[in-house]
Parts: sequence; structure tokens; C-alpha cells
Amino acid sequence: MDDFTMHPFDAGEDDRFHEECGVFGVYGAQNAAALAALGLHALQHRGQEAAGICSFDGRQFYTERHIGLVGDNFTKPSVIARLPGDRAIGHTRYSTTGGSGIRNVQPLFAQYTGGGFAIAHNGNLTNAMTLQKELQRRGSIFQSTSDTETILHLVATSPKVALVDRLVDAMSRVEGAYSLVCISNKKMIGCRDPLGIRPLILGDLEGALVLASETCALDIIGARFVREIEPGEMVIITDDGIESIKPFGRTASRFCIFEYVYFARPDSVFSGTSVYEVRKRIGAELARESGVTADIVIPVPDSGTPAAIGFAEAAGLPFDLGIIRNHYVGRTFIEPTDSIRHMGVKLKHNANRSVIQGKRIVLVDDSIVRGTTSVKIVQMMRDAGATEVHMRIASPPTRDSCFYGVDTPEKGKLLASRMSIQEMTSYIGVDSLAFLSIDGLYRAVGQAKRDNLVPQYCDACFTGEYPTVLTDQAGEPSVRQLTLLAEAR
Ligand code: SF4
Repeated sequence: MDDFTMHPFDAGEDDRFHEECGVFGVYGAQNAAALAALGLHALQHRGQEAAGICSFDGRQFYTERHIGLVGDNFTKPSVIARLPGDRAIGHTRYSTTGGSGIRNVQPLFAQYTGGGFAIAHNGNLTNAMTLQKELQRRGSIFQSTSDTETILHLVATSPKVALVDRLVDAMSRVEGAYSLVCISNKKMIGCRDPLGIRPLILGDLEGALVLASETCALDIIGARFVREIEPGEMVIITDDGIESIKPFGRTASRFCIFEYVYFARPDSVFSGTSVYEVRKRIGAELARESGVTADIVIPVPDSGTPAAIGFAEAAGLPFDLGIIRNHYVGRTFIEPTDSIRHMGVKLKHNANRSVIQGKRIVLVDDSIVRGTTSVKIVQMMRDAGATEVHMRIASPPTRDSCFYGVDTPEKGKLLASRMSIQEMTSYIGVDSLAFLSIDGLYRAVGQAKRDNLVPQYCDACFTGEYPTVLTDQAGEPSVRQLTLLAEAR
């Protein structure tokens, strides 16, 4: 799910890549909407700006979509009571300034000739604008600036008759990354793009079937993990059970490797591997590749913590919490003005002086995006008395933008795309700086090394090798994403 709008990156508040969505669906449970609200709460890290649930009670569809956190909008019994039925799908959404607004909040619902249809989408279609222009020429009128609406129009205008055939027809025209959950009056459908770039898993709650972005959403409702939806697979869930089809042909999986580094919750599991354990292995690889003489290992919390633990264990150094994170700083707290942005890092992080003073520290973070946060945190460490600051990054340098459902600045604003390691060392103000190698990252996720001919994961933001065509971005590689998004307005 992405917006046809400019995505100004809010570096002052949070200099991070942002996963844009989490999806959840449940079929055959008495309290489907309440379960969806719990599932979305567990997926809150995948999108904090808006959330929505659509349910069906055998007669009609009900939709509640709200700006804000799941816990602020879906805990009241009166809200859940407005979402009756035994099936529901839900969505958590991250957006940036240009894309916020209730009309873009999912699930999106439409009435087509075959009945009602609601959809929730995690990912980004890389030819959505091209398709949208074609659909508009044929008379379609778009209500939102979300690429997900393109799928609704393709379903509604498909020459096929049955819903599944229409959806297959629609998805065979799109490119990019998508994990979808949809409901109609008779079905819940889950679908993953042929490369499986974004996650989607299947669970079981006492006979009710559940679809979710991550296993942590099953844990919160007490559901049992069944399996992952395979790349290119569509599952159709009805009162008769579950049917699986693979209408898009077989291709090798290219799951987003950054899910392991940062996006997914550490208590989630992908392909039988705990995200937390992978992050610790990343830290251990980093220590083996770029060990340094120091007194203590300190994470940039929370995302750098598992890798820092792994680093400390492998390096034989003590681990301690030298930075304390304020968990009560939400996006909405911060006004987008330069004067308040300037304070952003201190609102969220503070030095734990007693741990840092007089020490040579290894500071472990998951990634560097623009570097603005790193500069401030390093200065905070020096102000707190660190005698040396050695920064270790638990991923390779991020040199390229993501076009698959992650909010990233344009390439030219990524620090690693415009500076060498030596230049970054000086810019950030550290005594030394090292990133994990791409092969080290692959070792941490259980591969011997990256297969450079057929990479096992999507790693495009580190390598620039995109696993799909980028139709909407073609022609203007240096300004491809933001310029084209702006033109679509
Ligand atoms: Fe993940 Fe990076 Fe690929 Fe985007 S470009 S899907 S963040 S690995």
C-alpha cells in the first residue's frame, strides 16, 4: 500500500525506514472484529498512523476506519459492536504527511457487479500509476490516492465473472509487492506476490482461520501457526474450508531481508527462524567482521538491542543500557516545525550517564538512513562522557530507496548513497564506523552467503538490484520515486 503523493521523510522525528502496513483477517469466529482489533494491536509496529476493520455478518459489510493507534480507536465495546459478523479483515497503516487522511485508510470497500468486496494491502505496486492512468482513460474515478484502489478497479472492471477469477485477473496485471487479505460475502482471500516480498501467514483459532502479516498477531489471540502463505499463492477460505491455488507460476522467493533487520517484531518467526535470534546472529557476525577494543556495548534502543546483545556475546564485552528510550513519544506528539524537530532525538532517547562516563563504547544501531539521528546520538554519548565512540551498524549501507511498501527517502538523501564510509565516519563524528557485510547478513539469516546470480532475498536497498521491474519509475532513475509521485497529484 503506497500513496500517489510526495513522501517527505520526517528525519527530525525518526530517521528510520518505515514499514507501511500490517494486515490481519479472520474467518469463522463469533467475535471476529474483536480478534481483528487484537491482531492489529500486535501489528501496530507496522503502521501507527491509522487503522481500520471491515466485517461481514451474512447480510452486509461494516467498516470502521480511524486515524490514530489501534488501542485508541478499537478498544471501546461500542466500536466493536458496530462491526458484527464472523469474518473481518483489518489494516494498520503508516503514512507520511502527504498521504495521511481518512480516505486512504484501509480496508478499502467497493460494491461491484458481483457484490461487496473489501481489501487490505501490505506492499506497493510498482506499476500502479501506469495502471491508474489507463483505468482513468476508461472511465474509472478514484476516491483515494492509494495504489490499493487500483486493485479494486481492476477487480471491478475484469471481464471474468467469479470473484477469484477477477482477482487473479487483476493481480496478473500488477507488478511489485503485495500481501493482501480480502473478504466478500462468501469468502476470505489471502494472496502473496510471486516473489513473496512482504510476509503473510496462516493460523488456526479453534477452527477459525486467520491470516496475518506476522506470527506475533497469532500469539496475541491464542491462535496456532499453520504455515506461511507461499510466494505467488492465493488461499480461498469459505465455509467448506481452505483452497490453495498458484495462478502466477513458480518463481524463487525474494522475501524482504530488512524484515529480519528491523521491520518485524523480534518475537515473530519467519521460515521457522525467530527474528530475535537472527538479530543476535547479525550482532555476532558484526563483532567477527568489525571487532574493536572497547569497554562496553550499548544499543540504540529498541531496534539495535538484539544485535548489540549478539555483538557483546561474540566480542566478550559487557552489554549495558547506555541510552534510555522514552516509549511515550508518539508521532502525533511532534509538530512538524523545524524548532521542535530539532528536539526530536532528545524527546525519544536520553543518555544514561552513569553507564557511559569514561568508557570506550561500541554503539550498535540497526541501520543509517539520513544519518541525522546518528549525529545527535553520538553527540549525546560524548556529552555524557564517552571517551571513544565506535559505531557498528547491523546491516549493510542503505544506498537505494525501497519501492515495495517501505517509506524511504529518495536515493540522494540516503547518507550511504552520497558518502564513503570514511566520510560518514567524519560526518557522524565517531572514532570508527563499520557496517555488516551483505554476506554477513545472509549468514545471519541462515545462508552460506549471498548468491549473486539468484539472490535468495530482496536486498535492493543495499545492492540496488530490484527483483521486479519498476514501471512507474522508469526513465528518471535519479529522481524516480518522488518526482513521479508528485506528478501523479
Ligand atoms: Fe525490503 Fe529493502 Fe527490498 Fe524494500 S528494498 S523490500 S526494504 S530489502
